[in-house]
Order: sequence, then C-alpha cells, then structure tokens
Amino acid sequence: MRKVLAAKPSITDREIEYVNDAIRHGWGEHCYEYLNRFENEFKAYQDSPYGLATSSCTGALHIALASLGLEALDEVIVPDITWIASISPIVQLGATPIFVDVEETSWCIDPKSVEAAITPQTKAIIVVHVYGNLVDMAEIMRIAKKHNLPVIEDAAEALGSEYKGKKAGSIGDFGVFSFHGTKTMTTGEGGMLVSNNKALFDQASIIANHGRDPAVPKLFWCEQVGLKYKMSNLQAAIGVAQLERIDELVDNKRWIFEHYKEYLRHADTRMNPEREGCKNSYWMPTIILPASFTLEKRDAFIQAMLSKNIQVRPFFYPVSSFPMFSPVLDNKVSLSLYQRGINLPSYFDMDELDIEYVVSHLKEQISVFR
Ligand SMILES: *Cc1c(COP(=O)(O)O)cnc(C)c1O
Repeated sequence: MRKVLAAKPSITDREIEYVNDAIRHGWGEHCYEYLNRFENEFKAYQDSPYGLATSSCTGALHIALASLGLEALDEVIVPDITWIASISPIVQLGATPIFVDVEETSWCIDPKSVEAAITPQTKAIIVVHVYGNLVDMAEIMRIAKKHNLPVIEDAAEALGSEYKGKKAGSIGDFGVFSFHGTKTMTTGEGGMLVSNNKALFDQASIIANHGRDPAVPKLFWCEQVGLKYKMSNLQAAIGVAQLERIDELVDNKRWIFEHYKEYLRHADTRMNPEREGCKNSYWMPTIILPASFTLEKRDAFIQAMLSKNIQVRPFFYPVSSFPMFSPVLDNKVSLSLYQRGINLPSYFDMDELDIEYVVSHLKEQISVFR
C-alpha cells in the first residue's frame, strides 16, 4: 500500500556537502563561518536588520520575552490556536498568557479580541501565522502602537509567507522561526530570532549570551543572568544549503496546496485562506470539515485515513483547554475550528499520485461520516 507521510524534509547533495565541509573544516578559527553566513543570509531573505540563530524556536521566543523584562503578574496576549511552544516561555518566566480568540476566516488572532484584552498588566502581544496563514498585521501594529506594546510574530509556520510585500516575521519588534524537521526548511532542530528594533535586539543578544555584553571587553564577565540556546555551526551548514533552496521549498508547498484545492473544489470543505495582497506559504494544507462533523466523527475520520497509510493530523487544540490552564469558553471560533480541522500531508517529495490518493480517500471518508 502507498504510504503518505505528514511531513519530511528534503535533503539533497548540497546539504550533505556543506555539512561535510563544516565537520571537516569548521573548527578553530572557522568555527562560526556557517553560523555567520546563515544568520546573514537569513536576515537578507527576511529583509530584517538583526538576526540570531538559536537551537529552537522555543528558545528564540524565550530570549525575546526575557529581553522585554517579562516578570510575574505581567500578561502576554496570545491566540488560543497555536502550538504550545508559543506559550510555554511566557509561563516559564512566571507571567500569564491571556488567550484570545482567532478569526473565523484566517484562523489567526483576532485584532478586536486583542484590543479588548489589553489591561495595565499587558506587557506584549504574540501573534502566530498559523499553518502559513497571515495575521492581520496592519490592525495588530495599529493597536500595538496605540497602546505602546511590543509585538512578537511567531512565524515558525510561515517561512516564505508575505504580508503586503513584507516577509512574515519581519514586521513586529521580534520574529521567531523554527527549523524543526517538520517545518518548511530544517536544520534538524533549530530556530532564528529576527528583529528590527536595535535596542531590543541588543538586549536579546546579551541575554542569549549568558548575560555577557559584547561592549564590555572582559572575558567571562556577566552583567546579568541570561540564557543559552545557540545553534551549532554544523546545523547552520544545513541551514545555509536549505536557504539557498528556499524558493523551491516554498514553491513546492504552494504547488501541493493548489493541487489539493483544485481536487477538493467540489467537496464541502474549506482550506487555508490567502489574505488579499498576501502570499501564503501553506506550511500545512488544512481542511475544515463540514459543520456536521463532531470531534468524535473527526477523530474516527482521522483513524480511517491512518488505516489507509495516510498521515493526516488533527488541528491544534485551543491551548487554554490543556489541564494546566483554564478553558476560555468565550473563544468560540477556536473551539469550533479545532473540532473540524485536519492537516493534510505536504512533504517535498510528494507527487501528484500521492495527492490523488489522499484526495480520493478524503472524499470517500467525508461521504461516509457526514
Ligand atoms: C514548531 C512551532 C514552534 C516551536 O518550534 P521549535 O523549533 O520546535 O521550538 C513554535 N511555534 C509554532 C507556531 C510552531 O509551529
């Protein structure tokens, strides 16, 4: 039987060649060469003035939040629909995530709910470009400016997405990315913090370097308690190769999405939207099943697909529904979307026959379960 995986990176001779070079020669005085190259090329791709490679996106977010001086009693406004990595660094710093609803259309944070959730304790806004879909950044930046709040864009799922000519992740004070093996480009594990705010980025760089200020020329001297989430030169070598192929990686995601969309045009489902004037890099092609689907039906639907060797995945749970938080029953869109959402397979080497195989079983199961 054909097997269709949910995700898998594309590794070519180029990645292998660069890693071989890094492991042979990237030591001693060359120990940062791929790392510096990767950071510089990533900043150029994003058109972001500042960038720091990290060991994960979670680490990049932790550094960003710590550099804002987040502490106990502070609140950070977040979308209820995201991966927990967007939230846990807030909690680790002792602050409180305030979960707000997402938009029915974009599945991303609803600016109206953001504005309504602002209190004197609010310290920052985190927005997430979920599955590659774009946040309404114009509204978010307008609200943030009005209330003088920093914005962190979690663009882990949106490398290559563009909001009105700007790359996702390059608009807020900070942007964070993930190079986990399931993401659009990979370094095995890895992440990136970008910024267009010099003062905040300088502070982030000190925190990311165990509190050592590069302006103080004393070896091993620490100015404050910091963090350490560095990327290795070996991982950066993979990153340089992947970034040289980024257009191909993003174009392939879009190709897969367009095929699904075309094949499913008569099915009673909807897929990731593409906001006007924007480009969606469609990290995860996702369908929302018809309203008749309950959570039980959706889960049975997923099981039926898995039994055909098709690795579909459930939509993210509202993070507030996890046992360590309190469910926010007002987040009605989040609560309704997750029960009917399914991520479709979309790895680089998928071909049209794989897509047809997935679609034919999708259509069959929709008619069985509806
Ligand atoms: C994958 C992901 C992360 C975390 O990335 P890591 O590199 O695994 O830390 C953060 N936020 C979102 C939205 C993600 O999808």
